[in-house]
Amino acid sequence: MKQDRYDVVVVGAGMGGLCSAALLTHSGYTALVVDKLPFVGGRASSVKYKGFTLPTGALYVETGGVVEKLFKEVGAPFAVRSFPMQLCFRMGGRDYLMPQKGGLRDLMSHFADERETAAVLTAIRRAFAWQEPSMAISLRDWLLQHTQNEKILAIFRGLVNYQCVNFRDMPAGEFIRQLKFATGATAGAHPQGFLALMQELVGVVEAGGGRVWTSTRARSIVVRDGAARGIVVERNGKDLEIAAGAVISSAGPHATVDLAGSGHFEKGYLKELKEKVHPLAYVCVEVSSDRPLVDFPGVMVVPEGRRQMTMMCTSLAYPEFAPPGKHLLQAWAAPDSSFEPLDTAAEVDTIVGDLKQAIPGFDDRAEILHVSYWQKDWPMYRALPGALTQKTPVENLYNVGDGVAPLVPLGLPACAETARIVVADIRQRLKPAG
Ligand SMILES: Cc1cc2nc3c(=O)[nH]c(=O)nc-3n(C[C@H](O)[C@H](O)[C@H](O)COP(=O)(O)OP(=O)(O)OC[C@H]3O[C@@H](n4cnc5c(N)ncnc54)[C@H](O)[C@@H]3O)c2cc1C
Repeated sequence: MKQDRYDVVVVGAGMGGLCSAALLTHSGYTALVVDKLPFVGGRASSVKYKGFTLPTGALYVETGGVVEKLFKEVGAPFAVRSFPMQLCFRMGGRDYLMPQKGGLRDLMSHFADERETAAVLTAIRRAFAWQEPSMAISLRDWLLQHTQNEKILAIFRGLVNYQCVNFRDMPAGEFIRQLKFATGATAGAHPQGFLALMQELVGVVEAGGGRVWTSTRARSIVVRDGAARGIVVERNGKDLEIAAGAVISSAGPHATVDLAGSGHFEKGYLKELKEKVHPLAYVCVEVSSDRPLVDFPGVMVVPEGRRQMTMMCTSLAYPEFAPPGKHLLQAWAAPDSSFEPLDTAAEVDTIVGDLKQAIPGFDDRAEILHVSYWQKDWPMYRALPGALTQKTPVENLYNVGDGVAPLVPLGLPACAETARIVVADIRQRLKPAG
């Protein structure tokens, strides 16, 4: 078997893997990134479909936060265009714009008297200032201690969908933590789609002497004497061993163990993996129309259907995502359970039904373009934040990405943060071969 050598090999060219490789090559390390797919970006990429630009996962990335800072640091252009961050709630057939300051109080005041609103806000204030609620109770059950008002519960059901977790599955402590540490950053998308953004990181890796190989599956992670020594990949129909001082995997913690062989991992780690790392399911529906199906250019929250839903007429903010004369509406919903296996046909039916309820005249004005569901090894998130640390018990073997997110934040910023943590550790422990 032919052998190559790099300072670090990275399994997976998603946000976690490419941020790691860009930081490494920017610091003088040689890095090889392999991805089994024919394109880069993983769940933060985009594909062309019937003239539309559709995401393979993430729709937006925060601007001014961890990801943008990392792009700037490594010299990658970050041509992300923001959209209005203000939320609009569609409830009981009416639209309520949520003011950016005092928005929660304002929204609740439409449905509850001052005493009821104050009870909920006081509980949240106390959770911010004193102690976060337990992780053992769901947000829904925590709120039920403070209000029985269905409309108020619906507002929070809608807000939690912004974090893409089912209301009944979102631990109260997690929800409050995400709110408390929200940076207030805006969000946006690359006008050419996520693939274009992720290719900027590929440019940094290659300019620094690294390589990014697509259509290249890692078959195993080589472990000898308790330490990671490289990977074996399948490339052009042949097996090739790549030796490295460290291996970073963004394939997810379960896949990392499978690739390296569970016999190399401590039992306690495997127990934590089994107990804590559960992928979250999600469903997206993309709809085409001649005229915008909603007028609001930002995120609309539709919290009162059978499923909690958010939707956006993306082509109002990004006309580039739709062919001339067409509009694109994207709707995202958490299924009945974020963690149980999806009954995909039933979920999609329910969510499309909710969408038809939310948009008057849907059948005459709209055409369903694409439906996607996310679960198992291509999930919304591989785990809730804080499930595992990035280091594994195998020396020089790290995980990055949303399976090992720190306590805050979620999604793409979490992936960039894990890359930063891992690369800082590698820089302390390993010298570039030079
Ligand atoms: C529908 C949806 C909407 C989302 N919306 C947002 C959003 O708006 N904003 C936000 O911040 N986050 C969002 N997220 C979350 C965000 O997309 C993910 O957190 C992030 O993209 C995960 O990146 P990653 O590097 O951890 O993993 P991935 O992107 O999954 O990358 C892992 C890569 O590893 C590759 N791989 C796996 N096994 C192997 C192997 N054996 N050999 C070679 N390659 C391998 C895979 O092909 C993949 O490309 C969304 C996710 C989904 C699914």
